[in-house]
Amino acid sequence: MSDYPETQLFIDGTWRDGSNDRLPIVNPATGEIIGTVANAGRDDLDAALVAAESGFDIWRQVSAFDRARVLHKAAQLLRDRVEKIATIMTLEQGKPIAEARAETLGAADMIDWFAEEARRAYGRVVPPRFAHVRQIVLKEPVGPVAAFSPWNFPLNQAVRKVAAGLAAGCSIILKGPEETPASCAELVYAFADAGLPTGALNLVYGTPADISNHLIAHPIIRKITFTGSTAVGKQLAALAGVHMKRMTMELGGHAPAIVFDDADVDVAVRILSGSKFRNAGQVCVAPTRFLVQEKVYSRFLAGFVKAAEAIKVGNGLDAEVTMGPLASGKRVEAMEALTADAISRGGRIATGGERIGNQGNFYKPTVLTDVPLDARVLNEEPFGPIAVVNAFSTYESAISEANRLPYGLAAYAYTTSAKTSAALGRDMQSGMVSINHHGLALPELPFGGIKDSGYGSEGGTEAMESFFNTKLVTESI
Ligand code: NAD
Repeated sequence: MSDYPETQLFIDGTWRDGSNDRLPIVNPATGEIIGTVANAGRDDLDAALVAAESGFDIWRQVSAFDRARVLHKAAQLLRDRVEKIATIMTLEQGKPIAEARAETLGAADMIDWFAEEARRAYGRVVPPRFAHVRQIVLKEPVGPVAAFSPWNFPLNQAVRKVAAGLAAGCSIILKGPEETPASCAELVYAFADAGLPTGALNLVYGTPADISNHLIAHPIIRKITFTGSTAVGKQLAALAGVHMKRMTMELGGHAPAIVFDDADVDVAVRILSGSKFRNAGQVCVAPTRFLVQEKVYSRFLAGFVKAAEAIKVGNGLDAEVTMGPLASGKRVEAMEALTADAISRGGRIATGGERIGNQGNFYKPTVLTDVPLDARVLNEEPFGPIAVVNAFSTYESAISEANRLPYGLAAYAYTTSAKTSAALGRDMQSGMVSINHHGLALPELPFGGIKDSGYGSEGGTEAMESFFNTKLVTESI
């Protein structure tokens, strides 16, 4: 496939092969192997660690003003290369080309915002108790960072870590997604071409557990940032805890979406169906548990099913396609198992419920109803194009169901009552609550969860803060 590049590791300013055998990359729309990615061995990881240490010594001393200039240039390079990057992303990840373009431009936007934020990383002067004392609070970059980013948004999950960390003056070893390596590597190309000093950003791929075990335990690494499943996040957090490393964990979710009787149902259907099936539902903040109040239930369900059936599923390179394949055959099997389990417990299929064809990883946009609470799909993160739409009667019962799971990443609600809106903002146990619109994931907004969805934030000023140490200097003058 001529448009698809072979991906290398990037260590100490050099693109190079790894010491392990290269890994194959499969186009999820066709099942074809389209290329390979370099596979890091222990020696490559050690080289990346040494590079990150020396890169940190250089980059931390670059002024915030000059760091911002490099970041802005990298953002512009992503914009200049949007068509190339979007094509690569769709080939390896499957999402519709329009979504891949939007992701690339969104990554540029993210870098620009953190570039400006670098220049506003103020400390503070605390009024002393004695006239001869001066007390200063300094923000210092935490040090070399190990960042782990997943395949669902190959650029945007990585850029949150890379842009904020570099803006703060940290160096980074990024373990990109082995499933979708080439679009993630384009992010690193943009920074390298923008003039980032050697060693400040390194990129590795390989066996995830081998890489995380080695990097997290290593004394050069001072902070861990991970996006992925709750199960893996808990393992990495435990290891980071043993080695007293700072961490940010952006993990799974199972977002409730509550639609009240007084909602604008058409708006709720349009926005929620769009956010449910974007990226074939492989989105940590996708709405997954729809709770609709009794009076508008039938109307909402009819509109939602119609929207699901209007989705054009296919190869994301086709401009008409609005939903691509799932990332792997494993995810299709997961959808089949979740649907079969829900049906065996009394749930009903309103639309979809089966794979499409036998080439590529396609699964129909699926709506399930009357699903009992003990069904797997109402307890495990589906991470795919399945929506469960159940009815509720009272505000209290909806909140109790919304808060039932150990997850707490995103939550959505639709109501025209100001009183209900205010109560929802107070009562929903979630890191992000979006009411009457889909308003998450902008660079300037905090992005992160509570409970089993993790801790720390990957957006807003909070994201920068997590890459700083706070140092107090108090002196008698
Ligand atoms: P998975 O748990 O095997 O992998 C998820 C991600 O974690 C991958 O990028 C993988 O490379 C990485 N990973 C796995 N083990 C690791 C380890 N020991 N050290 C470092 N990284 C490791 O699951 P999967 O089948 O690839 O994806 C499906 C599940 O992953 C979903 O159910 C979802 O919960 C989760 N996921 C979440 C996000 C998110 O945005 N929060 C993104 C992708 C996947």
